[in-house]
Amino acid sequence: MPRPIQATIHTEALRHNLAQVRAAAPDARVWGVVKANAYGHGIERVYEGLRGVDGFALLDMAEAERVRALGWRGPILLLEGVFEPRDLELCSRLGLWHAVHCEAQIDMLAVHKTHQPHRVFLKMNSGMNRLGFAPSAYRSAWTRLNALPQVDEISLMTHFSDADGARGIAHQMKVFSETTRDLPGERSVANSAATLRHARAADVRADWLRPGIAIYGSAPDFPEHSAAHWGLQRTMTLASRLIGVQDLKPGDTVGYGSSFTADAPMRIGVVACGYADGYPRHCTTGTPVLVDGVRTRMVGRVSMDMITVDLAPVPGAGLGSEVTLWGGATGGTMLPIDEVAQAAGTVGYELMCALAPRVPVVTGD
Ligand SMILES: *Cc1c(COP(=O)(O)O)cnc(C)c1O
Repeated sequence: MPRPIQATIHTEALRHNLAQVRAAAPDARVWGVVKANAYGHGIERVYEGLRGVDGFALLDMAEAERVRALGWRGPILLLEGVFEPRDLELCSRLGLWHAVHCEAQIDMLAVHKTHQPHRVFLKMNSGMNRLGFAPSAYRSAWTRLNALPQVDEISLMTHFSDADGARGIAHQMKVFSETTRDLPGERSVANSAATLRHARAADVRADWLRPGIAIYGSAPDFPEHSAAHWGLQRTMTLASRLIGVQDLKPGDTVGYGSSFTADAPMRIGVVACGYADGYPRHCTTGTPVLVDGVRTRMVGRVSMDMITVDLAPVPGAGLGSEVTLWGGATGGTMLPIDEVAQAAGTVGYELMCALAPRVPVVTGD
């Protein structure tokens, strides 16, 4: 028998979450963001659930090839554009749309030989200070692109730093709107957080949304709001089983560094899941976990292949009992990935993306 850990990707939940995103902005088109191997879910595994999108957005050339290999003929957008001149050949061959965020990318386009002009998304740095043209350089970049025979339509995009938080998006929207006021072209500004929190505004919905995390069922603004608040369903379950049980006396300790000490007699379950499976090592005593669908807590340190859990709330549990690290248990109890991420001092995004290659993955509903 293989080691009993397994991840499940929930196709119906992907479909549901996409519908929730659409409901937030019914008149906008949706880029389903599938970078980082669909946030760790696997591009091939999410394809069925997400084929209702208007396009797929990602940033890795090999991933774009995989989307085309699945038979997708619609738009694909490279969110970071090309990295070297020969990437443009792939764009021409596969019909990829690409972001243009710096002069060097325009230089590459200017000497690119193609029969088919490219659709590009000109990116503005409206305040996040990662990629994009400064507002003062944006219009001249547009003019330069517009003069190139290699370029077809130019769309306009920017990215928010605080759509999930208190600072919000108004300061960046102002810069973007003022700089692009009389430029033609479709616009795309909203990630998941902007879509869920701010898409009532027409200029935020714009022409294309770019949701990622919301379609994977994690709240972009947890803990202010939960996934349930936004009507999102878990799309990944990580489950395993108990492979050992220990009875502790008061004063006994558990695991490396003896970081947990029993103050009373207690039963400890040993779970076949550790940091080599992608379970975050920063989780400490108290991190929520489900055993046979009952909520309990992790105790002690996360080791490479195992964690240890308190069986007090589940006296009937024993060898082989189902353990849900995040997602849904067999009986329907849920453990949001955002709660586990919070216990590890991180976000749901990182946990999904870190699911380790050694974990077998199945798709289901
Ligand atoms: C990753 C990414 C998104 C999606 O962000 P979420 O927070 O997952 O919705 C949107 N736009 C760009 C440019 C991105 O890099």
